[in-house]
Amino acid sequence: MPPRLLTAVAAIIFISSAVSFFFGTTPLGYVKWFIGATIIQFIAQYVITLILDARLGVQIKKLEQENILLLSKTEQPAICPCHVKNVQHIPILFDEQMTYKCNKCNKDLSAYLDITTALVTTPLPASDLDANLTKISQQIDEHTKQAN
Ligand SMILES: [Zn+2]
Repeated sequence: MPPRLLTAVAAIIFISSAVSFFFGTTPLGYVKWFIGATIIQFIAQYVITLILDARLGVQIKKLEQENILLLSKTEQPAICPCHVKNVQHIPILFDEQMTYKCNKCNKDLSAYLDITTALVTTPLPASDLDANLTKISQQIDEHTKQAN
């Protein structure tokens, strides 16, 4: 018998014995109190398990919805190479191979990423446009002088 089950059975027997010890002298008697306390504990255990399972189910649903929301943030359109050229939005994940099934031709597909890079530039403030234009024209002039 697993230790947790053994502990649970021991606890039930202990509680039932304690209840029948305190109320056993009443007209119902020791055995009826023991059996009654045991049945009530099983019912209470069942109800508690139902409540905990329901709470766990709600938590699982909530986590699944959060997961769907996170995946929807990383979705990208992917075109199937089949004759239909079906466009499907698939979640982009870096930690696993991105395979999916085309919902038109029903073939298994694998998606690969292509990364484009660009220099980061600082935008010029629009409020100081004239000063910026003269600065740019000065830089162009210096550049053309250096080139010649
Ligand atoms: Zn397809």
